[in-house]
Amino acid sequence: METIKMSMAEIAEYLKTNSIIIIPIGAVEEHSKALPLGTDTLTTEAMAIELGKRTKRTVGPTISVGNCHSITFTFPGTMSISPVNIVNYLVDYLKSLYKDGFRRFLFVNGHGGNIAPLRCAIDTVVDVFENSRFSVGSWWLFEDLKDLYNNAGHAGRGEASMMLYLYPELVHKDMFTEEKRNIPYYYVSNDIVHQEITETGIINDGQESTAHLGRKLFEKSVEIYEKLLKELEE
Ligand SMILES: [Zn+2]
Repeated sequence: METIKMSMAEIAEYLKTNSIIIIPIGAVEEHSKALPLGTDTLTTEAMAIELGKRTKRTVGPTISVGNCHSITFTFPGTMSISPVNIVNYLVDYLKSLYKDGFRRFLFVNGHGGNIAPLRCAIDTVVDVFENSRFSVGSWWLFEDLKDLYNNAGHAGRGEASMMLYLYPELVHKDMFTEEKRNIPYYYVSNDIVHQEITETGIINDGQESTAHLGRKLFEKSVEIYEKLLKELEE
């Protein structure tokens, strides 16, 4: 169950036999005109809650706004917590859990810009926490999934399919489009993103998205997270 729905006594009871917590982290970020701003947050929260149900493990409060300082920042609706601030936020979040007895932390991550801050936050606490383990799983990087959705990028087939499965009422299918640009190996400043990376806010294509594919991606992701969780608890 999610900690925000549990009482103080219920958390204390849980901690008598468990020290693991599942933490969803996403973003509020443009996802083309077809998908809602909260796509990363909505998909990872759904995965985390499903994982919690299946494993009877608790789910921490969703970290909804992530680091979107590059590529998508200039599009309407994108919000961003700067990398330094999100690292500090994550460190405090982890310390709060640690003082109660949590020792196994599994991040269910839905957004690429969060990976570096997560790494920095974990590196900050790893030498002061005792007997603790951390794992960050970003579903679109799972090798077993890549063939399923042709490794489609931002707001592409993978995310769009998952949204069609989980929240079809939030998807504007008539706005699915295609823009097969690649993210270069160098960083660019925000003022040239629209010319060099994406004009429409999509990277790759959303046109072949289906709820059926979304269900497969969701199920497979939850299965992989289940394995990560087991490894973390061993
Ligand atoms: Zn996304």
